[in-house]
Formats: sequence, structure tokens, C-alpha cells
Amino acid sequence: MTASDHQNHAQTLLKQIATAAEAVQILRPAYTDILSFYEPLFLVQEAAKPQLCIEPPPIPENVFMFKRRGALPLIDPGEFSIDAERSADIFRQVCRVASGTAQAMQAAGAELGKRFDDGTLDPARLFAGFFKTDEAAFAELAQELNLDAELLVFLTYASLFPSISRCAEKLSAYLPENEPWEKGYCPICGNLPGLSMLKGEGERSFACSFCNHEYPGKRIFCPFCETTDSSRLQYLFSDAEPEYRVHLCDACKRYVKTVDCREISRPFYAPLEQICTLHIDMVAQEREYAGGGRFFSPAG
Ligand SMILES: [Zn+2]
Ligand SMILES: [Zn+2]
Repeated sequence: MTASDHQNHAQTLLKQIATAAEAVQILRPAYTDILSFYEPLFLVQEAAKPQLCIEPPPIPENVFMFKRRGALPLIDPGEFSIDAERSADIFRQVCRVASGTAQAMQAAGAELGKRFDDGTLDPARLFAGFFKTDEAAFAELAQELNLDAELLVFLTYASLFPSISRCAEKLSAYLPENEPWEKGYCPICGNLPGLSMLKGEGERSFACSFCNHEYPGKRIFCPFCETTDSSRLQYLFSDAEPEYRVHLCDACKRYVKTVDCREISRPFYAPLEQICTLHIDMVAQEREYAGGGRFFSPAG
């Protein structure tokens, strides 16, 4: 795609996100508050993506062959390339979105934004800690800023997500089309899926909970323990919401939410569906199944 293709694609996507968010609010007004934060967040993230300058880590042919033979992901999550300069701008915008909400992150957004502006907080410090999964550094910084560490991680991830997903898109060029992927984890970064999707004739795919890469998967399959034993796999479904299922695995007691894209008339945007299905997480968790992906969520 050329730069202008990316721009056009981003413009279309922004409209789709707005349309989908509006449709969800009409269907489920209980999500209005949550969406008042996430919709502008998604718009900031997607609008920023075409401007990013991302050079994905090169993967030499022999390394690639080795990884594919072993069904290993292309990179480790710590190897994602980011556009640090633009991610700092995104961080400022994310803080602005957070500070405009009526939620727990309002104060954090305002404080971080202020510190960014007066130069007492360098987002590069957050970005480096994030990729090193340096929990101690985050805890220390959170204490210094008098903020919740989980919230700090969440806002950092939200600022890096455009780079991460753009880098994943570029890396996906390495993946052979139509080659089956037998694993439950993401072929790009090895993280677990946050959502599964049904499309077309019932083909199933998964969306990575970290880089949002969409990859094919088997229909009767647990992406966490990789069982294909149908007697241990079941799903729950409600007539009131025919577009959703929750797949439960009795082998590992984990669940994954599924969107049947054939049943929705709004545009599909995985991160939006992920956050406006918290009621389905509750149904699965009440039955003592645990989620499987890597989620960053605001504390509280
Ligand atoms: Zn991934
Ligand atoms: Zn399982």
C-alpha cells in the first residue's frame, strides 16, 4: 500500500469505528460510559497509524525457516519496533482522552499530561519499561507519580498500540498465505488471542490480544491448551445476542469470546468488540473459566 492508500484506509476505518461504537451504544446503553473513553482512544490510535515510521526487525531467511518449522512466532513481544517520537505525541493525546473522561483514569490522564508538558516525565522511560516488562520500574515510577501501576501500564500500552499493530502488519508479509497455522498463539508475537471470529462459511480466526494480528484457527480447538477434543469443548450462546458466543474449554478451564461476524451489521473492529463484551466475560468467569489473552485494562 502507498502512503495515500494508508491514509484512505485509516479514514474509512475511523468512520467504521464511529459507526460501530454508535451501534453498540444503541444496542447496549450500559456501555455508553466505557465507550466515551474507548471510542476516542481507538480514533486517536488509528488516526496516528499512517503517520508512523516503523522499520520492523528483519528476519533472515534461515531464522524464518527455523521458526516456521518449529511453529514459533516470528518475534518476541519485546522486539516490536516503535516510532518513539510519534508514540510520545500519541501518549499526550491518550492522556488528553483519559483526562476528559469521568472515570478512574481521569486524574491519571491529567497528571501525566501535565508532567509530559512540563518535561518532568519522559514517555521514553515508560516505553522502555513496557517492552522489558519491567514491573519493578513501573511500580517505582507509579509510586513517584502517585499513580496506580496498572493504569500506567495500560496508558503506556495504549500509546504504543499503533506502533505495535503497524509493526505486526508489516511483519505479516513474511507469513505465507493459505498456510495453516496449527498453534493457538499469534504467529507474529506469540501472545494468546483476545477474541475469535467466525466468518464466511464458518471459518474461524483469532485476534492477538497484544498486536491485534488476525490469524486462522481450527473451528473445534482451544487456543490455550490446543485440545481438539470436542467432548471437552463447548460454547454458550444467547438468542438475545446471536453475534456472540463464548467458547469454554474443560481441559484447561479457559474461555475465549467469539464474534460471529456474519451476524453483525455494524463494521467489525476487534478491540471495540473486545471491550463491549465484558458482560460475556462475566458469564464465563462466574462459571469459573479464566480468560487467556494478555490484557491491559485500567484498574478499578
Ligand atoms: Zn500478536
Ligand atoms: Zn483449553
